[in-house]
Amino acid sequence: METIEIKLQNLTKVFQAKNKEETIAVNDLDITIPAGKLIGLLGPSGCGKSTTLYMISGLLKPTEGRIFFGDTDVTDVAPEKRGIGLVFQNYALYPHMTVKQNILFPLENLKMDKEKALERAQFYADLVGIGHLMARKPVQLSGGQQQRVAIARALVKEPRVLLLDEPLSNLDARLRLQTREEIKRIQKETGITTIFVTHDQEEAMSISDEIVLMQEGIQQQKGAPQDVYDKPANLFVAKFLGSPPINLFEGRIENEKIMVGKAQFGRAEGKKDQKVVIGVRPEGFNIVERSSLKVTVDFVETIGRDTTLIIQKPEGAVDPEVLKAQQEESDEMIDGIEEGSIEETAPEQKATFRAIVDADNRVKPGDVIKLSVKPHKMFLFNKDGELI
Ligand code: ATP
Repeated sequence: METIEIKLQNLTKVFQAKNKEETIAVNDLDITIPAGKLIGLLGPSGCGKSTTLYMISGLLKPTEGRIFFGDTDVTDVAPEKRGIGLVFQNYALYPHMTVKQNILFPLENLKMDKEKALERAQFYADLVGIGHLMARKPVQLSGGQQQRVAIARALVKEPRVLLLDEPLSNLDARLRLQTREEIKRIQKETGITTIFVTHDQEEAMSISDEIVLMQEGIQQQKGAPQDVYDKPANLFVAKFLGSPPINLFEGRIENEKIMVGKAQFGRAEGKKDQKVVIGVRPEGFNIVERSSLKVTVDFVETIGRDTTLIIQKPEGAVDPEVLKAQQEESDEMIDGIEEGSIEETAPEQKATFRAIVDADNRVKPGDVIKLSVKPHKMFLFNKDGELI
């Protein structure tokens, strides 16, 4: 199979509603997707992932910008002439056809020799692991098997580009895991340049050579998953990647020290005094003998070697007004009036944070412990969420 690079140049899509209200679904996207790689297009609902994918496929016309497959400008090329394979969330198989007929279907208009078409259909069915189910109808298959048929059907024309739009969303947790590994294997074996759209960070991180993180139509960061996790470009990226999520503290830089209330989190050499939001990954703490970061442990969850500690934030890390509001909210929840979520109201200022430490530390609820912060697991942001 020929592998090609995909280049998006200033790609923009503006939707206009009847009342003339405009939505900029994709805003000036500049991305190069290397030949033979799998790119995960990631971001919250409504950030423009599907719109981007549909423009690449040709199903949507960009408002501005160009799309290149290799050296060819395909912006005005019809979808069926672009050499793409598409797989959607709902498998969209023909229910009255067998698996074999479904996979063969895209080849029918190609006037391909029948023997050769059958051979190829069998080859891709085997590749995705459903070669033994060719005589079945879609209703006789599990969700994961149906999705594999959809993938085989997308591959059978030997496209230059494979576009997957949330292909695993309809599968249960175990099948999701298994099918995503399959997709990775198939992509490696065929070497087909692939774009995988998902809102699930773990899925994107595990499957992609590179991820592109989008928010409100704008690219936030692109890179190898681990690099983006280790070096988030801004607060949005830091918050979006990571499970459990990054801990956020209101703090300040004072005489080159990073302070949260009276606790020192580290040093910020050469940085001027200012208010900051401090992000620390849950794995970014050590339990130590001496530290000004002295905290009380609320809950302890141990799974295997790791213990997750849920800890009260140090004094001064939480705005007293927010604390008061949270107290009122939790009182309401206790009264059973409202099932409101504190996380939704002010995720930055929750009164607790998480630290993942070695289970050997044997920490118990109620313990008062001292923590140090690993500098490479800590990030500083200004009030606009920019990394400083
Ligand atoms: P999801 O994960 O929920 O599918 P997404 O990241 O794929 O989200 P898009 O479907 O690309 O997001 O939508 C991006 C933005 O464009 C959203 O604000 C959406 O409401 C808007 N939008 C999408 N299609 C249209 C349309 N046909 N007309 C008007 N607005 C649209």
